[in-house]
Order: sequence, then C-alpha cells, then structure tokens
Amino acid sequence: MRAAVAYEAGQPLVVEEVSALPLGPRDVRVEVRASGICHTDVSVIDGLMSIPFPFVPGHEGCGVVEEVGREVRRVRVGERVLVAVAPACGTCWWCVHGLSNHCELNSQVMALPRWQLGDGRSATALCGCGTFSESMVVHEASLVPVETGLADEELALLGCGVTTGLGAALNTARVTPGASVAVIGCGGVGQSVVQGARIAGAALIIAIDPVEGRRQASLKVGATHVVDPAVADPIESVRALTHGRGVDYSFEVVGRPELMVQAHEMARAGGTVTLVGMPPGDSTLALPAVQAVFSGKHVVGSVVGDAQILRDFPRFVALAEAGLLDLGSLVSNRIKLDDINDGIEMLRKAEGVRTVVG
Ligand SMILES: [Zn+2]
Ligand SMILES: [Zn+2]
Repeated sequence: MRAAVAYEAGQPLVVEEVSALPLGPRDVRVEVRASGICHTDVSVIDGLMSIPFPFVPGHEGCGVVEEVGREVRRVRVGERVLVAVAPACGTCWWCVHGLSNHCELNSQVMALPRWQLGDGRSATALCGCGTFSESMVVHEASLVPVETGLADEELALLGCGVTTGLGAALNTARVTPGASVAVIGCGGVGQSVVQGARIAGAALIIAIDPVEGRRQASLKVGATHVVDPAVADPIESVRALTHGRGVDYSFEVVGRPELMVQAHEMARAGGTVTLVGMPPGDSTLALPAVQAVFSGKHVVGSVVGDAQILRDFPRFVALAEAGLLDLGSLVSNRIKLDDINDGIEMLRKAEGVRTVVG
C-alpha cells in the first residue's frame, strides 16, 4: 500500500510504498476512501508542533473496514466508518463525564508506530489516523460506524473540520435562536461555525474574512452579513450591526492571539467568546484585565467542537442528510494521493475551502 510520509519539517511529503505493522487486539485496518486536508496537517508538516518525524499526516477521513483485531467490538468488516481526529474509548473518566474529546487514549494513539518505511524505520500516524494513505491501521476508539448515502468526499469532512466548527456553535457556545453571532476566519471550520449558528437559529451572523471567495461562500451557507477586515474595522462593523452592544456570541477561528482579543471586544457584555483556531505553541493571550472582569464575558476554548463523536457523528450526518448542513459546498477541490503536495500548497495559499484526497 502507499502513503504520503512526512520525513522532515517543511519538506514535501513523499508518496511511497509502505507496509502496515501487525494489528493489535483493538486495531482496525481501514481502506481510506476520502480524506480532507486540514490546517493542522500543514502546521505539523511544517514542524510547528512537537511531533516527531517521520509520520503519515491526515486526520479527517472516511473509509471501509478491511480487517479487525480479535477484541474489536465497535465495527465490523465491510462497514463504512468515519475516522475521528480524537478517539473516544467510551469508558475512561473523560468519556463517562461527557468529555470524550479529551479521552485518555488521545496521546496514546498519537505515539503508536503504524507503518514500516522502506528504510526500516517506523512512522506514527497523525492523531492516530494517517488518512493520507490508501489503507491505515487505527484504534477502534478512533472510529464511528455510519450508515449513510452521503458521498465519501462530503462525509470525510466530518472527521475534523466540520465537526470542530459545527460543534463550537452547537456544543461549546450553545448558540440560541434569535442570537447575534460574529465569526472571525471563514475557511472550512469558520464556515462550519456559520452553519452551526444558522442551524441553531441565530438571527444575525456576521462573517469576517479578508478573502473575498470565503466571504461569498459564507453568505451561501448562512451568513447574513460579511466584513472585509482589510477595508472596515471589524469591531466597529460588528457594533454598528448590533446597536452598539456587540454580538451575543463571537468566535475566533484563525488561531491568532490579536484576533482573539478582537473576538473578546466584539462580544457584548455577558456574551460568550469561543476560541476555536489553533494558536502557535509559544503564544500567549493578553486581555485588558479590567474589561475581562467587568464585562462579565465568558471566554471558552473549544477543542474538536467539544464533540462527543459517538453521539455527534450520527447527529451531524443526520443534519447533512436532512439538507440542513451543507457539506458539498465546502469541497472545493478533489485530488489524488499522488498530488497531495499540490493540495497542501493550495491550503497554504488559502485557495478554495477544503481539498479532499481520494
Ligand atoms: Zn483538523
Ligand atoms: Zn475515553
């Protein structure tokens, strides 16, 4: 089988023949049918996070079960599955407290060797997935079986990006009907926040992004207003649309501390500021202390949209099947595994919304 291997920080991936290691008792071999390329893949490939090389990137995807270890109970051979960026074992302290996005298996699956490379070394799989491959071995906790007629390239996006955005609106912030919302950063995840706000019944949804194509796409999936931060001050624009108060819910979906401060400023007193974007590892967030106290705003971080995958994957699939969640418009490019480096370049240049491999 072939996989795209990251050998060195900042270098192109090498698509080559690799061999899978033997299955552990709770491991599952999955034929990868489609995989999205996420910003986190690019950050890790560029060496911005402390993940040892070599590894196979890719952490949102779907496929079909080919083989199961002897103790696997969650999935069966031939079943269609979604692979999740974060596993959920269902039994650890976190999982039984409704916090399966923090499942204790998280760091364990990241560290497992999953491939034997041509030079004799072994490679890990990003987030325990490694979807930039033809076939991957994952822990059963990273898989959720799904029965749906959704196309592979749409379904794959639920593995990370769409779930992160949708979950930030529905699970973390819990946007309410009639609410006002502002979203800073409208790539695939930001547009999924916009969709989550629309599904929750928000009356005012302001999409803020310097890229024209992303503003237009946000209008198509539910934004009521768009702001180009290169042309208009985003905080003033949000206040002008909310009688000077600010929005009930603001979201930062870029991962830049200065934009997190903006998100805090554009929320109304007592509003909720949800931080979704992945910031650089060495950055800190500095808020004006008096405002942070006296405005009574709730600042909350959202990891994988607080998704409880066993509950939320079927729920989000149902939203897509009902026509409430638009996955198709998020797929802007389709490429083959051999062209993976072109797909990564497109993401670096912010071309399109989501590139899907497969
Ligand atoms: Zn991701
Ligand atoms: Zn768990």
